[in-house]
Amino acid sequence: MSTAITRRHVAVIGAGAAGLVTARELRREGHEVVVFERGNQIGGTWVYNPNVESDPLGLDPNRNVVHSSLYDSLRTNLPRECMGFRDYPFIKRDEKGRDSRRFPSHREVLMYLQDFAVDFGIGELVRLETEVVLVELGEGGKWRVKSKPLKLNNEYVVEIYDAVVICNGHHVQPRIAHIPGINAWRGQQMHSHNYRTPKPFKDQVVVIIGGAASAVDLSREIATVAKEVHIADRSIKEDKLGKVPGHDNMWLHSTIESAHGSPVVFQDGKAVNADFIVHCTGYKYDFPFLQTKGAVTVDDNRVGPLYQHVFPPELAPWLSFVGLPWMVAPFSLFERQSNWIARTLSNRIALPSKEKMTEDVEAFYSSLEASGTPKRYTHKMPDLQWDYDNWVSDQCGFPAIEEWRVEMYNATSKNRVLRPESYRDVWDDDDLADQAQKDFGNYLI
Ligand code: FAD
Repeated sequence: MSTAITRRHVAVIGAGAAGLVTARELRREGHEVVVFERGNQIGGTWVYNPNVESDPLGLDPNRNVVHSSLYDSLRTNLPRECMGFRDYPFIKRDEKGRDSRRFPSHREVLMYLQDFAVDFGIGELVRLETEVVLVELGEGGKWRVKSKPLKLNNEYVVEIYDAVVICNGHHVQPRIAHIPGINAWRGQQMHSHNYRTPKPFKDQVVVIIGGAASAVDLSREIATVAKEVHIADRSIKEDKLGKVPGHDNMWLHSTIESAHGSPVVFQDGKAVNADFIVHCTGYKYDFPFLQTKGAVTVDDNRVGPLYQHVFPPELAPWLSFVGLPWMVAPFSLFERQSNWIARTLSNRIALPSKEKMTEDVEAFYSSLEASGTPKRYTHKMPDLQWDYDNWVSDQCGFPAIEEWRVEMYNATSKNRVLRPESYRDVWDDDDLADQAQKDFGNYLI
């Protein structure tokens, strides 16, 4: 381990939650940081955009891409205590225009991120309306970053950096369900990425595919105006099939078997004449600007090879990724990954050899295969996230994840299943919220 702390010139791509905390960690460690952001403000996903894309399914490569997938009514699916960064708690602000609820609206999250950026002076590092179009290895192991700043009328600018950290988000390129016969189906389809309000579904018969947070929220909201809502959830248990308790116009089904011609047929034997299919089926990783000559690829939604979801062994530590794991408490994971990157780049800590990192990745892939985990779930880690967070923390000397955060996340997951309609307003973990508040006293002046 070297003790000669070195300052690097680092490009961060994206100014969402991951890019902002990465910028903070890099600067805290003494690096010189530039954050590229193609949007006109910071916040990434949390910048609500009422506009939708020209292709509602998000398949047309020439469509106008809208970054955020937020719907107008969205409230967080994690309690604010659990969601915030470790040393910058997402506390209630009893000020005009702020949402003090425990599960606040998306606007409050954006304001929290804006506060974070102001309090840590991150804004001055961010180049807004500047899209990165190419990242490639240049001479001497440095990175060429080609960008297109709007203020230069989109003339290209090429700069050289020691390292690049990719924080471009992964809720932009929709994955859609494969439905036999769908090309002959006569109804309309969209992906949840392009859902904003329930208005288009008034008096319609709607099939919603998916069982995760967006499917739960959208089905409830659409059911307030639609004639019927049918949810196709491939992981649904048989005893839950049929009418959803408390709703007159909502049914749970297994997977869609086919949609030839008119009716949508489910594997449970039921069929409906639907007007709309809404795919709440997740997203694909996409790095259109990244050229690594094969050192990093995306294969069936596996970004790899990556040592512990962050460093490609071939290019480490000069290229890294923050925020790939999903089904996690993201902000606390981002700050650990970015602290690890910052301290590795400065030489404060060392990575294993390229061979050892490659062995680690191969062992991980073998374990996924042995457990029958599909490749596309490589970065999905709801159960492993805390071990992962603590493993990363150990690498860089970051504090371990708080016990209350783990318990609160688990309590919220259970509550969401128990009370899908009201978990944001009724809960049983006030004791954990009290523990969190006590902990926050360490960081609040
Ligand atoms: P993003 O927020 O997507 O930011 C990426 C940024 O990179 C964007 O600003 C984008 O413009 C920029 N960018 C991309 N490409 C380029 C380029 N080539 N050049 C320059 N800039 C570029 N998490 C929670 O903790 N709680 C919740 O309740 C919650 N609800 C969610 C609901 C929905 C519908 C979705 C989609 C996600 C939700 N999440 C939630 C997860 C959320 O994605 C994370 O909380 C987090 O905001 C992701 O941050 P990020 O920085 O990784 O990505």
